[in-house]
Amino acid sequence: MKVTLARTAGFCWGVRRTVDKTFETIEAAAGPVQTLGPVIHNPQVIARLKAEGVEVADRVAEVSAGTTLVVRTHGTTKDELAVARSRGLEVVDGTCPYVKVPQAYVQRMSRDGYHVVVVGDEKHPEIRGVVSYAEGPVTVLPAGAPLPELPGVKKIAVVAQTTLVGEAFQRVVGECALRFKEVRAFNTICYDADERQDDARALAAEVDAVVVVGGRASANTRHLAEICQELQPRTHHVETADELDPSWFSGVEVVGVSAGASTPDWVVEGVVRRLESMASPTGA
Ligand code: SF4
Repeated sequence: MKVTLARTAGFCWGVRRTVDKTFETIEAAAGPVQTLGPVIHNPQVIARLKAEGVEVADRVAEVSAGTTLVVRTHGTTKDELAVARSRGLEVVDGTCPYVKVPQAYVQRMSRDGYHVVVVGDEKHPEIRGVVSYAEGPVTVLPAGAPLPELPGVKKIAVVAQTTLVGEAFQRVVGECALRFKEVRAFNTICYDADERQDDARALAAEVDAVVVVGGRASANTRHLAEICQELQPRTHHVETADELDPSWFSGVEVVGVSAGASTPDWVVEGVVRRLESMASPTGA
């Protein structure tokens, strides 16, 4: 079976930076190293770090004195960072610089008296971190959800989760423009997510099936799978090559492979090798 790999499949710049920082920290640290939350949303990378002795802490309170703490790519809350620093822990900030952009806008706009709307998933660690920088009222709006009544609000500022699909941001900004006197919109969607989504769309339109590779907890991988599914119903989301089922590819001549920003190259390569080794299709 022929395999076409998306140009942007695999680690984005921000994830590579955090993963490299984590392994450099392991080399350099005199004592134990822990990450605050899973450093990226990929179970295979977390397993490699665990093999190096790096445990995941859910909260700073769980971390023993003398530990070097690496902050995950998605960042953490302002309070957790303050606790880590007040306890004198060595903190390596692995937050992607693009995730710091909505954090900074939320802080600045709420200080300036704007009601802030964050378009994204309120349970996602990136959004929990971003919201923690608000110094006034903030509303988190999941993609596609209606904008609630906000009585008395005149000035509104809108930011987006870095992995948000562009149309979801556009819809909220458009609705705000009609309902409020003053609207400040900050497009904080990461260019990598945009580019990866465009590539995935182009790929899905030209192949007979698509495999999207990446962690199930990875928001950007799930978005890629949703985008591909719309254009190519024979889309499958897998974490590793072991999950591939040959019956999915009956009649398929060309399969496209895309991968989330937190999917390591070695996992993508494993999927490509397995697909290439599958016998040429005979048709359903
Ligand atoms: S997708 Fe963008 S925001 Fe997210 S980690 Fe990668 S570079 Fe940073």
